[in-house]
Amino acid sequence: MTLPGSPWLARQAGELTLDGHALRGLAREYGTPLFVYSQRAMQAAAGAYQRALAPQPHLLCYAMKANPSLAVLQTFARMGCGFDIVSGGELQRVIAAGGDASQVIFSGVGKTAREMEMALRAGVACFNVESEGELERLSEVATRTGLTARVSLRVNPDVDAGTHPYISTGLKNNKFGVAHDRAVPTYRRAAALPGLQVVGIDCHIGSQITQIEPYLDALDRLLDLVEAVEAHGIALQHVDIGGGLGITYTDEKPPEAGELIAQVLARMKARGHAHRTLVMEPGRSLVGNAGVLLTQVMYLKRGEGKNFCVVDAAMNDLMRPALYQAYMQIEACAPGAQATEATWDVVGPVCESGDWLGRDRVLRVAPDDVLAVLSAGAYGKALASNYNSRARATELMITSDGQVRVIRPREDTTQLFAAEQLVP
Ligand SMILES: *Cc1c(COP(=O)(O)O)cnc(C)c1O
Repeated sequence: MTLPGSPWLARQAGELTLDGHALRGLAREYGTPLFVYSQRAMQAAAGAYQRALAPQPHLLCYAMKANPSLAVLQTFARMGCGFDIVSGGELQRVIAAGGDASQVIFSGVGKTAREMEMALRAGVACFNVESEGELERLSEVATRTGLTARVSLRVNPDVDAGTHPYISTGLKNNKFGVAHDRAVPTYRRAAALPGLQVVGIDCHIGSQITQIEPYLDALDRLLDLVEAVEAHGIALQHVDIGGGLGITYTDEKPPEAGELIAQVLARMKARGHAHRTLVMEPGRSLVGNAGVLLTQVMYLKRGEGKNFCVVDAAMNDLMRPALYQAYMQIEACAPGAQATEATWDVVGPVCESGDWLGRDRVLRVAPDDVLAVLSAGAYGKALASNYNSRARATELMITSDGQVRVIRPREDTTQLFAAEQLVP
């Protein structure tokens, strides 16, 4: 079976390696649970988008909620990427990492007036507005601060991305975006409000999408609207088709970014829209397969119906299995001689039955062995919590010059409650 994340992830003489570094050795040196990211894998993923987008004016914005670690943001900022943000806190991170606010797209259904003001003062490229109420609020804030907010409307194209309900965002009954049939009147309202400049249109139909058709359907719906909006004398410079391209967790075969983009550009050209700036907001597909979560086996519990492999990583470190019943491949980093093959539920120490990382996995394991949960670079650390007063894991990056760098040390558990106060 090929490893998701190859060629960066490979097996060399029995040892699982990431960009040439044996993962078991990193786990022994830095302790577990441990996230390890390959910077070169991230650069390769973003480079593929950039090369394919080159024929048309474009802006590639990394959707940083997938993995907001500063060193990850810095990696993309240095490549000239912009960022798709969903909060004021994310904007602060972009700036701290050396990103350029003028290449930031501000998405999200619930922006506060404070966040709007912060983003206006920083000079973000565009606010992706999701409702009429938000337009009015943004107009007030812009007028009050004497600045102009460039806006795009997030339109709900009502296409089915064919993915998990929790990560499908382009259907009518989602909380996201303005309904397709409300778009033209909402653009007219936006054009009439002070402090706003209409610059584009956007959508984001979901996540972990493994087909090209939903993108082309959504693009067609957007281009129909561009034409309708421009017929009212409102010019739109950019078309933003969001993010959502899937990765391989097990046997999914998502299209390559280059393949998707070639078809999007061809469709735009065929419809006479090749002069517009194409904006994309990929998150998962830039970082997902660039990272792994390493965890150590603590106890093997053989039961009547089930065998449990208790590891030191848990749902607080990696929530995707508990949250979405997500399947993430699990590999023994270097199965020891004592290990015997069996079928295991790989579970963590958190006091919840939902605390599992993998179910019914055939693995050769022994206590103290190191396991790797693959494709953990996206929505891994990003969703981590301190549930059960557990410290969040160390994060390492193997940089493009082959060095291993700690990009965030393991939390100190006493710091977790350092700001809390006892009552008299
Ligand atoms: C989450 C999100 C993205 C990125 O989605 P991925 O599936 O990680 O590529 C892009 N745009 C918006 C508005 C989002 O909310």
